[in-house]
Amino acid sequence: MIEFILLFVAFYVWHAMGITIGYHRGLSHRSYTCPKWVEYLWVFPGYLAFEGSPIWWSTMHRAHHHHVDTPLDPHSPRFDVKYAHLGWLAKMEYAPHIDPKLQSKDLIDDPIYAFLEQGGNWRRAHTLSYVLNLVYRGAILLAFGWVPALASLLAGLAVQQIPLMLNVFCHLPEYGYKTYAAEDDSVNVWWVGLLAMGEGWHNNHHAAPGSAKSGMAWYELDLSWWVMVAMHKVGMITRMNVVSHDRMMQAAREYTESLPAINQIYSPASLVSAKSVAVVDSIEEVSTAGDASKKQGDLLRAS
Ligand SMILES: [Zn+2]
Ligand SMILES: [Zn+2]
Repeated sequence: MIEFILLFVAFYVWHAMGITIGYHRGLSHRSYTCPKWVEYLWVFPGYLAFEGSPIWWSTMHRAHHHHVDTPLDPHSPRFDVKYAHLGWLAKMEYAPHIDPKLQSKDLIDDPIYAFLEQGGNWRRAHTLSYVLNLVYRGAILLAFGWVPALASLLAGLAVQQIPLMLNVFCHLPEYGYKTYAAEDDSVNVWWVGLLAMGEGWHNNHHAAPGSAKSGMAWYELDLSWWVMVAMHKVGMITRMNVVSHDRMMQAAREYTESLPAINQIYSPASLVSAKSVAVVDSIEEVSTAGDASKKQGDLLRAS
């Protein structure tokens, strides 16, 4: 039993950081620069947590930031909590305003990511993800026995739930607190911060999406950040965007000022143009050395 618990925890942390360091702060936000082998080192444990195609994940997440808590956000609980949790996964195709060829131009040329994306067919990509995840657990079963195989499977399935849960609880103001004023509903939720290796400080993250660091106060534990600091020290990461509290306060203020009537505007066209200015500005504002974040800003502008 002890062996199972230790393996479960080890697999859980590895897969969860695959999402945080690989899928989220790496692919989706380009908040740091690293060699390709280091990128794969973190993206693959994310994929092996039943997380789906990296291009799909990043595209949907960029769309979430771009249209946050508006009717064009792929999963805002402001409108429908059940839909924000699981309902959006059942759509099985990109909405007309979301296009990986525009929003994830920087990812579609990677042959491995392109293969996992299956030409944008959600059904095929999700099926492939489940098949490869189960084949991987089958290989562990044959090589090391049922204890590590079961620990890996359950840890992967547990980690799969984390972003789905985060999408809901970190966008319901009654569950957390805001450090940085913004017109979106993002909040910091301490227990999601712990379970998601630092991603639960979601209001901080929305205030500075291009920052590699999410935990800002001393009590906002951000394990993913500390792993990235260690990787930076040994040269596995060559550049990280780091944003100070003061800079984030300033960016949040500008963001809020740029959207004076967001809650009163219901025309999707108005929302797109308002958000597009606000998000691009905030990304450029928060980048300290951010070629990659600037590039992402350009991509968002292009969309
Ligand atoms: Zn969010
Ligand atoms: Zn994000």
